[in-house]
Amino acid sequence: MTSGPVAGETSHIPTETDVLVVGAGPAGSAAAIWAARRGYGVVLADAAVFPRDKTCGDGLTPRAIGELELLGLGDWIRERGVHRGVRLCGWRREVEFDWPGGSLPTISSAVPRIELDDKIRTTAVKVGAHMVEGAKAVRANRVDGRVQSVTFQTVGGDRTIACKTLVIADGVRSTLGKQLGRTWHRDTPYGVAVRAYVKSGRHDDPFITTYSELRDDSRKLRPGYGWVFPLSTGEVNIGLGYLATDKRPAHVALKPLLDSLVRQRRQDWQFDGPVHSVTSALLPLGGSVSTVAGPNWALLGDAAGCINPLNGEGIDYGLEAGRFLADLLGESDLTDAWPHLLRAHYGKAFSVGRRIAWLSMLPGVLALSGPPLLWSKILGRISIRVLGNLVTDEDVDLVARAWRTAGRGSLVLDRRAPFE
Ligand SMILES: Cc1cc2nc3c(=O)[nH]c(=O)nc-3n(C[C@H](O)[C@H](O)[C@H](O)COP(=O)(O)OP(=O)(O)OC[C@H]3O[C@@H](n4cnc5c(N)ncnc54)[C@H](O)[C@@H]3O)c2cc1C
Repeated sequence: MTSGPVAGETSHIPTETDVLVVGAGPAGSAAAIWAARRGYGVVLADAAVFPRDKTCGDGLTPRAIGELELLGLGDWIRERGVHRGVRLCGWRREVEFDWPGGSLPTISSAVPRIELDDKIRTTAVKVGAHMVEGAKAVRANRVDGRVQSVTFQTVGGDRTIACKTLVIADGVRSTLGKQLGRTWHRDTPYGVAVRAYVKSGRHDDPFITTYSELRDDSRKLRPGYGWVFPLSTGEVNIGLGYLATDKRPAHVALKPLLDSLVRQRRQDWQFDGPVHSVTSALLPLGGSVSTVAGPNWALLGDAAGCINPLNGEGIDYGLEAGRFLADLLGESDLTDAWPHLLRAHYGKAFSVGRRIAWLSMLPGVLALSGPPLLWSKILGRISIRVLGNLVTDEDVDLVARAWRTAGRGSLVLDRRAPFE
């Protein structure tokens, strides 16, 4: 990797590198860490200047905790506070479940993204990645399909960084991915979600809480689910999300529904003061993205639609996929290798998850399926496991095997498989 001073700027921007990662969210930073650990020269570039916020529920599933451990951030996350399980609420019930464990950790956590993303990104810098902030990727320069370099807009003017491999982890909109042919299929369910922060007397609650019966102030049942995730900051992250497709927009006004949720839960959660930092965003779910790779470039995280269709969680998949991608950096052509690897890891769960998500959008299905999951401990326990995709290939118990079989069957029926 060579670098040259840039007039008017305090830091040097390298002119070439082995691996160029665009986007320093969890996916990009994880990829940068794993690539640097394997000895590659890495530049990690982001349009933002850190620390920066990201619209999110801030929830870190047991799967995410497992990855943070591998990144050497296990102690750090434990200091930030952990949860032992999930509390499901709705239909006049509140049921608490410890995380099932199996091959995954038995704890979860929630850390504001302004803090989490900065921590993972600085970890990448510590292992040797060169961070470039305030650099917006505007153009991928290709010869015969291979990306030779990327041009960035910076305060000092346009800068170009040549690379052997380009990792695109630029989030839900993925403007750079789009230039290279990325297509997000919105005929499969996608998520729309809003989050906010509020002080709470129960910020140290040991369970994350989800509300599967969302009602507005007129008590009308609305699609989607709400959450309260306790944070060690004295606040909680409160939010809600729902599913939609292009043909089936949900017609839900997010912010008024969030106001209703806050009003309904204010006493219970001892909210103190106003909610703040209310922001919303879309979520590409279940690998509903095609053209996720070319000869020497690959999409990662939200850019590749790596979000669980059943709970909207994507930090974990971004972290994991960053590790998987580093294993492929020596390959001569990623065009088929990368979607194949993503499908091998997530195809079954994402395919069946998309199908269940689609079914849950049909009128009446939520009202029919919600109560049994809350009223039966066994069904509740199974739903935590499968809706959270807390199953890995190492798990051999009955639920894990049934979930994988359902996934295989679903893949056979798919008109367009995940990442296809
Ligand atoms: C309301 C809401 C709640 C959610 N709750 C949860 C949750 O509780 N748990 C969970 O696991 N997931 C949750 N998710 C999903 C989660 O936020 C994403 O899956 C996750 O952030 C994906 O990480 P990423 O690294 O792919 O992208 P991002 O975190 O979006 O990072 C992308 C980065 O790319 C940079 N970038 C973008 N364009 C450019 C460019 N042209 N040039 C340079 N840099 C660029 C951005 O500045 C950003 O830093 C939620 C999402 C929403 C919207």
